[in-house]
Amino acid sequence: MKRIAVITSGGDAPGMNACIRAIVLTASQHDIEVIGFRHGFRGIVEDLNQPLHPNDMRLVSQRGGTILLSSRYPQFKEVDAARQAAAVLDQHDISALVVIGGDGSFRGAHHLDQYWDGQVLGLPGTIDNDLAGTDTTIGFTTAVDTAMEAIDRIRETAEAMARVFLIEVMGRHAGFIGLHAAIAGSAEAMLVPELEPQPKLADLADSIRRARQAFPDSSYLIVVSENLWPGGVEELARQLTQATGTTCHSAPLGHIQRGGRPNAADRILSMQLGQAAVHAVLDGISGHMIGVEQGHVVRVPLHLTFERDKQLDSRLVDLQLGLQQLNFASNVVKESA
Ligand code: ATP
Repeated sequence: MKRIAVITSGGDAPGMNACIRAIVLTASQHDIEVIGFRHGFRGIVEDLNQPLHPNDMRLVSQRGGTILLSSRYPQFKEVDAARQAAAVLDQHDISALVVIGGDGSFRGAHHLDQYWDGQVLGLPGTIDNDLAGTDTTIGFTTAVDTAMEAIDRIRETAEAMARVFLIEVMGRHAGFIGLHAAIAGSAEAMLVPELEPQPKLADLADSIRRARQAFPDSSYLIVVSENLWPGGVEELARQLTQATGTTCHSAPLGHIQRGGRPNAADRILSMQLGQAAVHAVLDGISGHMIGVEQGHVVRVPLHLTFERDKQLDSRLVDLQLGLQQLNFASNVVKESA
């Protein structure tokens, strides 16, 4: 009888619990036991084990966060930590480890793979969607839904007062949440790291000025990715206020994008990937991420998920940028009328 271990590592993402459930239930169908380690890689090193039984999984899919808890544990980069983790896994007779996390967690999984004989598999669990080799990651669409809902709320109050808002969304160093939230929230402008060239302060100020001239009674929302503007969205709002003479408000959405109940798409994705991970264990696969491409489950070597950059969908970028131009077009129509 095989025994599988599971951890959730790095930033938590809505859907991680549904994924744990799928692993435990699928494993149970194949008479495989599952042990969790709390707090990610730290939990393996410190042997914070927790048996996971199918009966414990009844009501977990609905919950955000992770029932296994997570952590950032930079010490895991050290060889001794990986060796210690390997020893703990061996003590528990574990033959495969499933790591649910983002690119950092996959680096950790890849690192461990070099010092442990068992199978190591990764499942993409991050709201940032910044892993190559999978179209989407567990938690991404829920985070976009949450950002969209927040943007809708800000829109209502902004519209009532014809205000300019800069809304900061998460994404680490990638613009997936920014792009998708900008389109879903009908933002007038978006600032994401992938734009080449990056809009300059003068361009942004000019857009705001022209939009306000054309539509003085309307709100103007800019979605801004985190870690992009030096000093953050508050500083950008301050600089734009100074440049335009119009008060620009900042609204960093922060961790509300991480929490909350996973949406249906994330629950289904999580279940699909969790089940596929157990099948990969049974097939003797190691050193791979299980992802999804064009609706099909795929197995991708772990290192290819973090060594390559994942591109934004260029059609969606063109869609958003095209609509942003329309602000000017409407302005031009009005000016020439
Ligand atoms: P997210 O981006 O959603 O926050 P993540 O998995 O990328 O998720 P990180 O904090 O970057 O989050 O990584 C999670 C953990 O993976 C780290 O705290 C560390 O324990 C481990 N890890 C990251 N990079 C490495 C590495 N190069 N070698 C070994 N372990 C690593």
